[in-house]
Amino acid sequence: MQLAENLNNLGTETAFEVLARAAKLSAAGKDVINLGIGQPDFKTPGHVVEAAIKAMRDGHHGYTPAKGIPELREAVAADTLKRRGAVIDPENIMIMPGGKPTMFFAVMMFAEPGAEIIYPNPGFPIYESVIRYAGATPVPMRLLEEKGFAFSADEVLSQITPKTRLIIMNTPANPTGGVTPKEELDKLAAGLAAWPNVVVMSDEIYDRMLYDGRQHASMLAYEELRDRLIVLNGWSKTYAMTGWRLGYSIWPEKLIGHVEKLAVNCHSCVNAPTQFAGIAALNGPQDEVDGMLVAFDKRRRLIVDALNALPGVRCAEPGGAFYAFPNITGTGMDAKALQTQLLEQAGVAVVAGTSFGALGEGFIRFSYAASAEQIEDAMGRMQKLLERAND
Ligand code: PLP
Repeated sequence: MQLAENLNNLGTETAFEVLARAAKLSAAGKDVINLGIGQPDFKTPGHVVEAAIKAMRDGHHGYTPAKGIPELREAVAADTLKRRGAVIDPENIMIMPGGKPTMFFAVMMFAEPGAEIIYPNPGFPIYESVIRYAGATPVPMRLLEEKGFAFSADEVLSQITPKTRLIIMNTPANPTGGVTPKEELDKLAAGLAAWPNVVVMSDEIYDRMLYDGRQHASMLAYEELRDRLIVLNGWSKTYAMTGWRLGYSIWPEKLIGHVEKLAVNCHSCVNAPTQFAGIAALNGPQDEVDGMLVAFDKRRRLIVDALNALPGVRCAEPGGAFYAFPNITGTGMDAKALQTQLLEQAGVAVVAGTSFGALGEGFIRFSYAASAEQIEDAMGRMQKLLERAND
């Protein structure tokens, strides 16, 4: 068997490996608290589940258009108008099997040897993985603790060269919970006027998860960028629908035909009942979404305070998403070593910052999509582990 060489360049999402190891330890009788995987611990709202069941009973069993059923694309357009004030033609909306395929297709569209793509680091690991897989040069957009893990527009603009084809950005962000202030987005949008060939992919999958009254700043606000802006979004996080595999993206006129073709070549369409569930989620009551956010906010405060009380740990307050990304350099351990010790010795699953890029060294990602009791228990276990290590 001779595998294609570029397969060696493909990375992965370590959270799935941690999930598998945690499941194995649990199956062997170990009591494991999972703060590793990034998914809400709530159930999908009941009316959303019912809509999928009804669609199946009504006979929606076949293929749908590759872009998705028109009713769902119209619901996304209406939601985008309501929340972001942006008028989007449903023909420019692509329904996807989750958020990930949008980043895969967007990168595949622009990446090849010689091309440069700017991407967040530390950031969602799939960006860098696919850039490398396609043979392009990944250029890290640095997200620094001292800046609250927001990017600096000046720095990003200074990294653009004639080879830059795509800038990937993500706010609120995984793994840091960082929120980039609107002023930086304003600056970036203004600076991009000098680089009319550079496309932006804005991953806004956590756009409903902000705290302390923060408002989401969407790249859709910049009309002048619309003809080169891809916006990634979806249902996974907001509606606790990670396993349904449902996402969407907004594409400029010039690119929508290409992404549709990529979808036809890859997955044809998203399964039909799930698309009906997506309509129910957008058009139905939002009280469960609001309730989840209240719960996440309480847990956020709990985990940040607890982390800051641990020896050798300091944690900046995350403004969005459901992750805490503490600096653990004071523990004397590197990120991978602490991840391993926490799982194997304390039964706490977390993900090393290095799984999100080289600039994640010295940090650990905690997903606080777990109950307050589990978070307290995990923090107690971590305290004991660190005290033992200091003895
Ligand atoms: N974008 C970011 C920033 C994420 O954190 C995730 C999931 O963790 C995704 C996209 C992918 O979402 P989905 O599970 O819908 O593919």
